[in-house]
Amino acid sequence: MRLSELLFTQGFGTRRVCAGLIEKGHVALADGLCTDPSAEVDLSAQPLAFSVQGQAWVYQPRAYVMLHKPAGYECSHRPGAWPSVYTLLPVPLRQRPTTGKVPGVQAVGRLDQDTTGLLLLSDDGAFIHRMNSPRHHVPKVYEVTTKHPLDERQIARLRAGVVLDDDPKPVAATAAEAVGDHHLRLTLTEGKYHQVKRMLAAVGNRVEGLHRSQVGRLVLPPELAPGEWRWLTEAEQAALA
Ligand code: URA
Repeated sequence: MRLSELLFTQGFGTRRVCAGLIEKGHVALADGLCTDPSAEVDLSAQPLAFSVQGQAWVYQPRAYVMLHKPAGYECSHRPGAWPSVYTLLPVPLRQRPTTGKVPGVQAVGRLDQDTTGLLLLSDDGAFIHRMNSPRHHVPKVYEVTTKHPLDERQIARLRAGVVLDDDPKPVAATAAEAVGDHHLRLTLTEGKYHQVKRMLAAVGNRVEGLHRSQVGRLVLPPELAPGEWRWLTEAEQAALA
């Protein structure tokens, strides 16, 4: 692949901007500066590390990213009252071009503004679909802080299924266990709008705090602080496949 095309696929700007960055001597490969936009880069040499204006980058054919979403951010490109989660990503990730039908890097499902925890982002349409589709039963684990103490009846109803206001078909938790008087661990395989909050309201309780700790077999790593992101490793990608 030509060097200017490589930079373009990684989100460093339009093809013209990328060629300009290279010509101006802002792009270094492992063996030093390269000022020829048409230089051929061997994509099989992985990891393919380079830097653009001093910013170190590793070529990723597709983006698979985890973010520890803090409270106070919206999972939208056009947020209303709060900043967008996308502002927590570096510019190249925010600028990645359309691949297939996916217009750059997208959140895999949405977390509410006040929800914290594990958010995946990708530009791989098939991956996004697989993670989101209820038919694929990818479990999502939520740590729920409740306003009122939990009781056995509430937990049993969450497991058996509750009817929400927009659908007569009941929705059930795959797992629900009280880990404290006000702390519930809830596993869902669907992602309806405000689902956890509405399920808790349906059993007569109320969500005071919501944190997603796990998606599929991927647990939010404790060392990833709120607001931080990192690439998924190949093993993590395989675990989600
Ligand atoms: N359920 C909710 O109510 N909110 C979220 O952010 C995620 C699941």
